[in-house]
This record gives sequence, C-alpha cells and structure tokens, in this order.
Amino acid sequence: MGRINREVIEEVRASANIVDVVGSYVALRKRGRNYLGLCPFHSEKEPSFTVSNEKQIFHCFGCGASGSVFDFVMRTRNLTFAEAVRELANRFGIPLPQEKETGQAKKIREMAERLRQINTMAARYFSGNLLNKNSGKIAREYLQSRGIDEGTIQDFQLGYAPKSWDGLKRFLTREKVDLKVAAQAGLLVPKSGGDSYDRFRNRLMFPIKDVRGRTIGFGGRALDDSMPKYLNSPETLIFHKGRTLYGLATAREACRQTNETLVVEGYFDLLALYNKSIHQVVAPLGTALTLNHVRMLSRLAPRAVLVFDGDEAGMKAALRSLEFFLREKMPVRFLPLPEGMDPDDFINKEGKEAFMQLLSEAKPLMEVFLEQSLSKYDGSVESRLIVVRTVAPMLRLLDSPIAQEGYLRVLDQRLGVSEEVLRAELSSSSIGRVSTATSQKRKKEAELPEWEEGIIRILVNYPHWIPTLEESSALKSFQRKDWAEVGGLLIKYYQEGGKLDLSGLLMDVQNEEIRNMISSWSLETSPWREEDAHSRLREYFAGISSSRRRLQDDLKRLKEEIQAAEGRRDEKLMAELLAELQAKKAALLAGEVNDEANLSKGEMV
Ligand SMILES: [Zn+2]
Repeated sequence: MGRINREVIEEVRASANIVDVVGSYVALRKRGRNYLGLCPFHSEKEPSFTVSNEKQIFHCFGCGASGSVFDFVMRTRNLTFAEAVRELANRFGIPLPQEKETGQAKKIREMAERLRQINTMAARYFSGNLLNKNSGKIAREYLQSRGIDEGTIQDFQLGYAPKSWDGLKRFLTREKVDLKVAAQAGLLVPKSGGDSYDRFRNRLMFPIKDVRGRTIGFGGRALDDSMPKYLNSPETLIFHKGRTLYGLATAREACRQTNETLVVEGYFDLLALYNKSIHQVVAPLGTALTLNHVRMLSRLAPRAVLVFDGDEAGMKAALRSLEFFLREKMPVRFLPLPEGMDPDDFINKEGKEAFMQLLSEAKPLMEVFLEQSLSKYDGSVESRLIVVRTVAPMLRLLDSPIAQEGYLRVLDQRLGVSEEVLRAELSSSSIGRVSTATSQKRKKEAELPEWEEGIIRILVNYPHWIPTLEESSALKSFQRKDWAEVGGLLIKYYQEGGKLDLSGLLMDVQNEEIRNMISSWSLETSPWREEDAHSRLREYFAGISSSRRRLQDDLKRLKEEIQAAEGRRDEKLMAELLAELQAKKAALLAGEVNDEANLSKGEMV
C-alpha cells in the first residue's frame, strides 16, 4: 500500500464528519455541545463516550480511548491508518489519486490473491473431510478426546487432511486449480519431473487466517507417529510465521472489549480457552514472539498477558519477549501456571473460574524478570554485578521514570546498592541514552513539573492564547520532549489556520497517553473560567522565567566560588562545587539546549 498524501487525508477528514461516522456504529444522543453514547471500546452502562462535532474528535471518559475520525475507524475495524483513510474515502466518494501500480506490483498483488483463494478452497476441503466423511472420524474423535466442542470446531474451521498422497491434489484438479500455484501456496510438494503430492497427510488441520479472516496458511497436527508433530505451511508470499498469529480474526472483537489480549503458546491452548468462552487469545505459530508480533498485539488491545507453560522453558520464552514489549511501550503481564501445566491442562482440570482468578493475579513481566534475576544473587559481589548487568538493559528501556525509580528502589533494598550507584550503572554502559543530564531530568520529572501539562491544558481550552506561548519562549524550558512537541504543534496549527484544528493536531501526536489527555481536556465540561485560566497561565510563564534566572544566577555564583577555591587550592571544596555546577547546568540544559541568548558558550565551564 502506497503512501497517501496529506492533501487527500485532509480532504477525507473534512468530508467524513465524525458524528456521522461514529453515529453509524454507536447510538448517540446530543448532550450540550457534544454527543454522548455507550463506548464501543469498553463495556459500560452509563454513557461516557463523547463525540465533539465542533472539534471533530471523540473521547471516552471511561477508558480513555480518543482521537480523530481515523482513529475511530482504525480501532473499530482494526485497520491501519492508510486503510482507514481509504475506507472513509470510499464511503464519502472521495476519489483517491490512482497510485501507479508497476507491472511487478500488480503481478505480486494478483499472485497473493490467488494464493489466498487456493488456501480458502483447501480449508473448505479439509473442513468437509472432518465434518462429513467417514475418513474424518479419527480427527473428530481426537478433538473430542481433547474436549473441543462443535462451536469451536466451526469457528476455527478445523479440518482433516486424509491419509492420502493426492486427496487434496485431486480436489484441486477437479476445481481446475493450477497445481503449480498450489505448490507455491505450500499445499503440494513438487517432485522431480513436474509431479507433486499432498504436503499434509493424516493431520488435524488448523487454517491460519489474517486479521480479516482470510486463510493464508495451515498448521497440521499429526494424528499418528509422523514427525514433526506439528507441521506448518512453508513461508510464502502471503504467509510469514514471524508476522502472523493464530486466532487473530477470532480474537479481535473480544480483545477490543476486554482491552487485553492473552498470548498462549499452542493451538490447543488457544482452543481450550476459546472453548470456555475466553476469546481474546492468540498464539504464535511455534516460534518465539517477535517484535512484529508485539506490534500486532498492540493493535489488538492496549495490554497483553502471556499465558505460557508452567515450566522453565515457558518462563524463558516469556522473558525473551520482555524487550519487545518495552520497546513498544506495551504493558505486559505474566500468568504463572502451576509447574508442569499448560493452559489447556489447567483450564480443563481446574475450570474457568480458577483460570480467571489466576489471570487477575498475573504480575507485570518486568517484575517477574526482576525477581528471576534477583534469585541469582547469593550475597557475593560478583553475583550482585551479574544481577545489575542483567537488569540494566531492560530498566533502560522503561520510558516511565516513575516505574524506573520503583524498580531501582527494589534493587536498592534487595542488593544493598544505592539508587545513585544503580543510576550510574544504567548510564555507564548505555550509548549516551541515559546521561547524567537525563537522569537528573528524570528525577525532576518524577517529582515536579505539572506545569507543562498545565500550560497545554489551558491552551487547548483557550486556543486564542497560543501565541503567548510563543512570545514567552517558555517552550524552550519544557523538560519533557513529548510535551514540548505538543507545544510546538499547538503553535504550528494555530499559525496555519488562525484557529486550533484539534483533530488534525491529535493525528500528529504519537504518544497515546498524551493524546488521550489532550482530548479529554478539550472536552472537559467545566473548564476554568477564562480569567482564572489566564492568570494561571501568566503565573506559569513567570515561574519558568524566574526559575531560569535563578539557575543562571546560581551558575554565575558557583563559577566565581570555584575560581576562588582554585586560587586557594582547596581541592575538596572545588570538587563539591563542580558537582553542584554540573547538576545545575544539567537542569538548565535539559530545557534549552539551543538557547544561546542566555548562556553563551564562554560561560559554560
Ligand atoms: Zn471507553
């Protein structure tokens, strides 16, 4: 899919009124200036889902879901941004500029379509064998022995590949399918001499579907002693194990409702949970979770829980994925099953209630990782170092200073290594990511600045003061990059349109948490009165400039004292003063790397 240019996006956004689009999914009532309905993203009895016609955004005060008309379509239909734009363009009759498709691209698209068609036909054939034929008896009995019921069999279109070298091949020949393409789909295995035979024989068949429910490959479980026990379709143009999850199509809706996706390791784990009406489950296809998988998960629901086997291998597999979840900033928990049990065993033996209980006790994976690492500490200096070195790379990936601080405190208590030393360790081996300046900054973030949010909040409510943000040059002192970006966007959008185009702005804000905060502020039913808000804004600006001035005065004073100490050769005092100077400089620098007007190079020691 090619990129869609900005103008087209704008045109679609202007035509697709958010009240109409949301209104076709959700019953909306007018309440004051906004529309109110039951949130489609979480279950609620009292409506807290708000749509603003004026601002062209939605926000749920229950679950925090928010955004533009595109966000709404992306979430409800599980589409990418480009797909959502196309969808709305079609619906509102906006012609998209024909993307020039090269001959090669066209060939690939057509081939992908043919492979999906053949897979779909094969799924029908396998499913027919399982349901209707005598030959499917062995597979049905097997499913029965695993407790899988009719509904689940149908929902997953489970099937049976008979014990034959050419069952599927003959079926496809009857259907006039080009057998060469069937071989490219991985369903037939070519022999020398141009002939081919069925890849899947005497196996229980699991059609693997993409998020739109189209069959792209198969998993097959042997019903005899054949090896491997599980055989997947080979990688094809449309099937990549590292980019596919089993159960995507069946899990989608439930993931949206529960805001959570469970990840299990095997087909039968997934079916066993599904059987007990736990539908928000997906599984990788016999591979470890990849970064791509985690990205797919983050599109299904905001949070994930790993429900892996209760043994060391299961734990290891879970911990290996921690890094990916941290990189994607996606909260993930780990559900510890009793030793030697997999989810299939557990739910069948202990029942759904016991499973749900365990689920509610699942711990953050980071915490599990920390515990696991700390268990290697035996009191020796060496093991202490090993623990610190193991956890440092993960702690560094945490984007929340509060969470980071919390974990550092645990390490402090358990290892007897102070937070300061741990912070030094965090920064020492990094590639300049967490420098002293940033760790200083992080500390401040954890304690202090509410003021950045305060300023943005007021400006979102009273956009005509946005120019004062620019005039006051307060933006330079914003210490948190995300908020500084929002400030910059406010100025940009206001300058471009002479008013605030909030739904456009929200599209440019990457950080979801911040996006949600902004939209909720903009829809607040009773924002402050204008005078109060204005005087508070002025206080913020004044506070920023005076604290900057104070810092600069301190710097100047410190430098004089250092010179004096140098003259007296008082090295101890010098060291202290230098440390203080570093800290102050870091604090000042954090907000104004480019601000040359106030601090010339010559003044910096
Ligand atoms: Zn909601």
